[in-house]
Amino acid sequence: MHFKSVHTPNFSKRLRNSKKIKFLIIHYTGMQSRRVSLKRLQNPKYKVSCHFLVDRKGEVVKLVDEKKTAWHAGKSKWKSFVNLNKNSIGIELVNKGHKYGYEKFSKIQINSLVRLCVYLKKKYHIKKQNILGHSDIAPLRKRDPGEKFPWKILGQKNLGILPNKKIKINFKDKNLRDIFFKNLKKIGYRYFNSKTNNLKNRLVIKSFQRHFRQSKINGTIDLECAKISSILAKKT
Ligand SMILES: [Zn+2]
Repeated sequence: MHFKSVHTPNFSKRLRNSKKIKFLIIHYTGMQSRRVSLKRLQNPKYKVSCHFLVDRKGEVVKLVDEKKTAWHAGKSKWKSFVNLNKNSIGIELVNKGHKYGYEKFSKIQINSLVRLCVYLKKKYHIKKQNILGHSDIAPLRKRDPGEKFPWKILGQKNLGILPNKKIKINFKDKNLRDIFFKNLKKIGYRYFNSKTNNLKNRLVIKSFQRHFRQSKINGTIDLECAKISSILAKKT
């Protein structure tokens, strides 16, 4: 694939082995426009970047070579991985985000993203389970790409996992909360504590909902969340 390239000083200069690349992390820019987003991603003052940016017209811009580590994930955890920049490729989607007016992603933007992800997944042998949102790996700090991101469309192309299998689970006499947190851990989420009831847990539950149960983002474990998590836990 060929891309338009722009320069940014915001990346680690040391080359990384391509075997280290195990994740694709999807973001939204959360800024007023494409122009402002690119400006920030190129400004040494902010120390942020990504490998690719996909704008709302579907144009893909390359900022950092995949062999170098871009600065997009920040403090993050997934399964046994900590601070995932070194293990991932970061893709930013132009979108105003929750702060400036969260928009539906355009069809053409998603088409381009899908093509890019198919290409990268194949090139680096990335597992479909490892195509994640920023909020999945940093649920206490991040909401992107958010509940409008069409994980279903990606899932249908084997980019990510979907809770699409129908299963019958009898939750009677079982504690939904225990089941849910056990599943969450197996899927890969971190930063929660099943022994307590706190704000952190609510943020992790919301992050799970933004990805896998987008119709209701309330931070509360319900039967549907428990079911979905049970289906997903079997796929990881
Ligand atoms: Zn992000």
